[in-house]
Amino acid sequence: MAVSETVIAGPGSALYPWQKPSWQKLIQYASTGRVPHALMISGLDGIGKLNLALCFANHLLCGSPKASEIRCKACDACRLIDAGTHPDLIRIEPPEAGKAITIDRVRDLSATLALTSQYNRYRIVLLRDADRLNSAAANALLKTLEEPGKGTVLILLTARCHELPATIRSRCQRLDIPVPDHRLAADWLKENLSSGDCEALLAMASGAPLKALAMGVAGNLEGRNTLFSRWREVAANHSDPVRIAENLSSLPLRDVLVWITGWTIDMIRLAMVPSARSLSNPDLRSALQGEAQKLDLKELFRFYEHLLQSASRVGSPVNAQMLLEALLIDWYSMKRNR
Ligand SMILES: [Zn+2]
Repeated sequence: MAVSETVIAGPGSALYPWQKPSWQKLIQYASTGRVPHALMISGLDGIGKLNLALCFANHLLCGSPKASEIRCKACDACRLIDAGTHPDLIRIEPPEAGKAITIDRVRDLSATLALTSQYNRYRIVLLRDADRLNSAAANALLKTLEEPGKGTVLILLTARCHELPATIRSRCQRLDIPVPDHRLAADWLKENLSSGDCEALLAMASGAPLKALAMGVAGNLEGRNTLFSRWREVAANHSDPVRIAENLSSLPLRDVLVWITGWTIDMIRLAMVPSARSLSNPDLRSALQGEAQKLDLKELFRFYEHLLQSASRVGSPVNAQMLLEALLIDWYSMKRNR
């Protein structure tokens, strides 16, 4: 899967294209020196609330941020941010998805906030899934929301703000994030997902691009696993390669070739060094090792050549089913020790 710079750099490094209007509001707080001590960012799951909050936290923590940039990336604070060890960025979230944030966690937070800030600038508390605070924890948090201490900014993130007590909501400045602009979301998804019906995925995710991406990637994995089972059935003479090629011709050819090439390279690695550590498909190690053991290394290299030739023809008008048939027949006919 092609992955955007944002995803590679990690959350809090860059904004998603649809986040600019929300960012402008946040940056205005910072540039006018009126950063609220409690901010509630609410909106659907999968639209990048955490990324937006981390960008803002990083902007506030940076020693010399320019208004137009998220942070300078050069100061001491930025180095700590890069290392993930800035002591003035405190993150709180449920211990597991769906579990509650308990009062102990909020008490720990109060104790930490009672100590002096390390850098005398801002101290940011990022509270993810704030609606998972149980009632005792929510009550304990009220006091912190009332007297957070100088420079402390609590950012609560939630997709279900109505589930938070009114007493908490009323103490926070609200920033409601709308569903992203459809065009921006669809374009971003197309750039980040090598295959799949982006429009359908976005619709299924109620317009939330990150959720749609996760669904698309999971679907990709399903496709890979289906292909892998069929591919092994062909090797074991349990399936007819021509029929399998016909069944698989609906999968994106480029993905199919990338997958089979990845398995072949892994088999070559395993045939040469059975304990090879870096595999493209570590989750398939034992199955690939089993296949590699049956095959001659020379045969594997020859099959790899066949794959490379096939890949070079993908851009040209080529019959996907015939190309796949040729590959699967080759794979089926390889000499195996049984
Ligand atoms: Zn900086």
